[in-house]
Amino acid sequence: MKVLVINAGSSSLKYQVIDMDGEKIIAKGLCERIGVAGSIGHIEHKPQNGKPVYDNEVEFPTHSEAIKAVLDVLVSPAHGVVDSLSEISAVGHRVLHGGMKFTQSVLVNNEVKDTIRSYIPLGPLHNPANLKGIESCEAVMPGVPQVAVFDTAFHQTMPEEAYIYPIPYEYFEKHGIRRYGFHGTSHRYVSAEAVRLLGGKAGSRVVTCHLGNGSSLAAVLDGKCVDTSMGLTPLEGVPMGTRSGNLDPAIIEFLANNEGLTAQQSVNVLNKESGVLGISGVSSDFRDLEEAAGQGNHRAQLALDIFHRSVSKTVASYFAVLGGADAIVFTAGVGENAPGTRAEIVAPLACFGITIDPEKNAVRGTVDITGADSKTKVFVIPTNEELVIARDTKEIAEKIL
Ligand code: AMP
Repeated sequence: MKVLVINAGSSSLKYQVIDMDGEKIIAKGLCERIGVAGSIGHIEHKPQNGKPVYDNEVEFPTHSEAIKAVLDVLVSPAHGVVDSLSEISAVGHRVLHGGMKFTQSVLVNNEVKDTIRSYIPLGPLHNPANLKGIESCEAVMPGVPQVAVFDTAFHQTMPEEAYIYPIPYEYFEKHGIRRYGFHGTSHRYVSAEAVRLLGGKAGSRVVTCHLGNGSSLAAVLDGKCVDTSMGLTPLEGVPMGTRSGNLDPAIIEFLANNEGLTAQQSVNVLNKESGVLGISGVSSDFRDLEEAAGQGNHRAQLALDIFHRSVSKTVASYFAVLGGADAIVFTAGVGENAPGTRAEIVAPLACFGITIDPEKNAVRGTVDITGADSKTKVFVIPTNEELVIARDTKEIAEKIL
């Protein structure tokens, strides 16, 4: 079975085609500048069968044209990977917000689409784009099963004391204001891999650190999420590339009064101009920060120090939640590729008897970087959200095909 995986953003669309016999990626690509007025769209398609990359400028007034361009190139003689679209048995869609309704992946029908639509207030940037991706595929691939895989679903096992905010309870009842958590597909994948590396240990306690442009941590007990750092939206938690993470909520009113910003403008600053970019004034990219810090840039070093401290504190807090930990996992762009960052985050955790092996930590791709005397395993596990989406899609589609 071949599955098309779609990750539709507000103006972009990433995709992969995975042959589930052997779970092999046979094509991947990206459409950019969808619906951006005055700008021509761009598609980059990378077949994995030896055919050349297809890189072209195309008009993408809406997501439908982008999906159509993807399907056209998938069957094109020069760059294609299938003879006919009928070879694509199902489509899996990454959907940001599944609210409290979706605790696992589902087959898309009208009711599912209505529910995703009803959660637009909770995911105003992503849920409309995710819906457009689904509807565009339905239009050009009628009858092909579509599956929705939610970023929030894995976190739905959290207990009330982890997800209720200490504000008047009626706001939860009236508006659904609570912690939802994100990056769930990634936390689910790497925590399951960690349990596998622990030999399938029952009652396993795993802390997963998804550190990328956006960052979040999760406490996972016996395969189920019991706490996570992101909240109602992906703005909460540790500082990120451009997002502030946790801060005193009174800062929003202070900015309104002293900078003349509306609440929306303040939140925009916290989403787009804060985090390590805001602190350093250099970049949201950790490679740039490391370089600038290496050249003596104080604010770049400060941004890194604040990030490391915040992640260490969150890991430590999950020791209290889980009653210790059998493994800590690093994943995503920073977690997988920045050994210095991993070392700085783990260093203060020596008080819990946790160490990493500096040599193993320096070798790219090494999975187990646990120090010889460490009481807790420390793993680097490359995340693979697309594979999880494809596996869920296959499992659900097979029931109706
Ligand atoms: P992601 O959101 O998972 O794609 O991760 C993107 C982030 O990973 C960016 O901020 C990059 O700076 C960071 N990143 C990628 N490679 C490295 C590296 N070799 N060292 C430090 N950070 C990296």
